[in-house]
Amino acid sequence: MHQNGFTTTIVHSDRDQSAEHGAVHKPMHPSSEYVYEDARELAAVFQGKAGFTYARQGTPTTTALEARITRMEAGKSTVSFATGMAALAAIFTTLLRRGDHLVSSQYVFGNTNSLLNTLMELGVEVTMVDATDVRQVRDALRPNTRMVFTETIANPGTQIADLAGMGELCRERGLVYVVDNTLTSPWMFRPVEVGASLVMNSLSKYIAGHGHALGGAVTDTGLFDWSGYANIYESYRKGAPTGWGLTQIKKKGLRDMGGTLAAEPAHRIAIGTETLALRMARHCSNALALATFLQGHPGVARVHYPGLSCHAQHQRASALFDGRYGGLLGVELAEGIDCFDFLNRLRIVLMATHLGDTRSLALPAAHTIYYEMGAEKRAQMGIADSLIRVSVGIEDEADLLFDFDQALRGCLQP
Ligand SMILES: *Cc1c(COP(=O)(O)O)cnc(C)c1O
Repeated sequence: MHQNGFTTTIVHSDRDQSAEHGAVHKPMHPSSEYVYEDARELAAVFQGKAGFTYARQGTPTTTALEARITRMEAGKSTVSFATGMAALAAIFTTLLRRGDHLVSSQYVFGNTNSLLNTLMELGVEVTMVDATDVRQVRDALRPNTRMVFTETIANPGTQIADLAGMGELCRERGLVYVVDNTLTSPWMFRPVEVGASLVMNSLSKYIAGHGHALGGAVTDTGLFDWSGYANIYESYRKGAPTGWGLTQIKKKGLRDMGGTLAAEPAHRIAIGTETLALRMARHCSNALALATFLQGHPGVARVHYPGLSCHAQHQRASALFDGRYGGLLGVELAEGIDCFDFLNRLRIVLMATHLGDTRSLALPAAHTIYYEMGAEKRAQMGIADSLIRVSVGIEDEADLLFDFDQALRGCLQP
């Protein structure tokens, strides 16, 4: 039977629900509260019937976006949040308790690293390992290990965890396997295919795609059997056990903690989803061209990009991501080139933090996003002082190459 592709499915997904006033786009619903003609109906929604009560727990606009994310991830259901960090905080704090153990990749987003430190202070044990090697993950497991966490492509070193090996390990040991899919996006990779239990996406990055909205999402793939998971509260042990985890994340993480995505950014993000495939293809082709060009440049010492055959996990990336390698590069400048001098010479590329925007962005990683961490931890994470993180945009390829070349040549001049 014919199955529609990624973009056709996403562009037409609002039609799964009945259109309101014939509106092609799902309308924005800014209402805080939802009214019922019959008080019994209001009570039924409080007691678990599908519907809306108070917008902290979601609106028709966030629900429509969540349905799209679920489709993109080939999952079972999704809960959206105000930011990616709110989504991650909800996963960790609602599913882990004091005395539990979490094994995490050591190559994680800086703010995630900081969040894991907070978690440790709250009494959750956290071990960080080099997740490019599944043996290190296995060796770190303890009797109280409940969860394993990794990103797909690490930022800015671009290490690629043994995503399939970790999925296999978690399945064998009955562990919750959480994958942050932000850097790949569901267009490049669906963590459900390697056995992920939960998939987190920062919607602020490639999915919204234009640097104009913040959001986060947690998708349950339906693969984990929550009936054996001790930390699910009695009141959420209702219905099919595949849904219990996300119910708890929604009730505790969204209703009680309140990191809710508002209707307006949800609407913008939904529009972003429609062009994800087009933009990602361009991000990927631009990044590969730029990485290849910079690798041979006299102003560059080293380029970290999974699409280069010298990358330590190049084979793994090719197999997992179907010949696509993402839009993020790490560039170590040649000895003697000052990273600030180089950045100040760029004309097209913006000096800004963020990634996944249509515009190319660059920043000195050690001096900004990894500054708070300190030199020792940076060295352990492989972040050199001269490392420039580049989020490659969708500009014309030749213009990007020209801009990097002119900036590097400017620095090389005696
Ligand atoms: C940006 C990012 C986050 C956090 O997302 P926000 O929407 O900015 O809160 C989490 N993980 C990764 C890999 C990211 O790049």
